[in-house]
Amino acid sequence: MIDLRSDTVTTPGDDMRRAMAQAAVGDDVYGEDPTVQHLERKIADLAGQEAALFFPSGTQSNLAALLSHCQRGDEYIVAQNAHTYRYEAGGAAVLGGIQPQPLECEHDGTLDLDKVADAVKVDDFHFARSRLLALENTIGGKALPLDYLARAEAVARRHNLGLHLDGARIFNAAVALGVEVSQLTRRFDSVSICLSKGLGAPIGSLLCARHDLIDRARRWRKMLGGGMRQVGILAAAGIYALEHNRDRLQQDHLHAQQLAAACAAIEQFKVVDGKAHTNMVFVATTLSENEFAALQAHAKANGLLLGGRLGGNILRLVTHKQISAQDITKAAQICAEFFAQ
Ligand SMILES: *Cc1c(COP(=O)(O)O)cnc(C)c1O
Repeated sequence: MIDLRSDTVTTPGDDMRRAMAQAAVGDDVYGEDPTVQHLERKIADLAGQEAALFFPSGTQSNLAALLSHCQRGDEYIVAQNAHTYRYEAGGAAVLGGIQPQPLECEHDGTLDLDKVADAVKVDDFHFARSRLLALENTIGGKALPLDYLARAEAVARRHNLGLHLDGARIFNAAVALGVEVSQLTRRFDSVSICLSKGLGAPIGSLLCARHDLIDRARRWRKMLGGGMRQVGILAAAGIYALEHNRDRLQQDHLHAQQLAAACAAIEQFKVVDGKAHTNMVFVATTLSENEFAALQAHAKANGLLLGGRLGGNILRLVTHKQISAQDITKAAQICAEFFAQ
């Protein structure tokens, strides 16, 4: 199957599995798993942060971060389409009593910083307390501009907001911009990074931050049921991913460009922005719901998995380490065949 639904579908290869099988392990809740400690040290250094904490998922890592920054009755400012707001089941509100203040995202994936400043509420008992600005990088595949990060930090500091980054795909951003990942993460008070996306580990995310914030997050992780035991077996996959699968993300970006060009040649597809963003291509269609389902079914019958229809009748296509240049040619052919029928 050519699976273009997401980079989360990547599976561990033989070398990664060997690293997992050979991992030294201990009880990580007792702080005794050397492989977890190695992974946490390694990613904290990469991110230019003091410490890191291993989580089973990015959702839990983001949630623990929000809970560590904010109290009940506080709010965080976030993009309307950000994962922490839209795709995490409202966890911060449900479990933390933390109110989101979503703002519409600009075309380049940034939040307009004047609008952020306007959204900060004055200290008045009518209002929730504005506490945190949460950004996401990449967002919709777009890497946030480097100079924007400095300006966002300045606004956050001026208004006494903490600064969190959902960096699920931060390594894609670093590769796309040709910078060290720490240049994209060091300004933030906390950064969540996924190992289970393009990096190809089966599971795992890390929250990177100052020691005091990590200490708070450790308590929340316990409360959320994320304290894990001999989990070095999974951390080993993460270490392997960081050592072997970072540079090759460039390949995924090239494949996404190839895919965008192939989609542009299909009359019924319109490539959003006319190009790929890191490892993602968004295609606008004029298909009805039924026609879209028929396209998906045709694709599946021919060995191609396509994701669901997003708002605005958009199809998201994602490249990853299990997608080759030939797969892309074939995928475009399968879609073109559907329209030819
Ligand atoms: C995948 C993802 C997460 C975390 O997802 P999990 O499936 O919980 O690991 C968080 N933010 C973004 C932007 C993501 O793409």
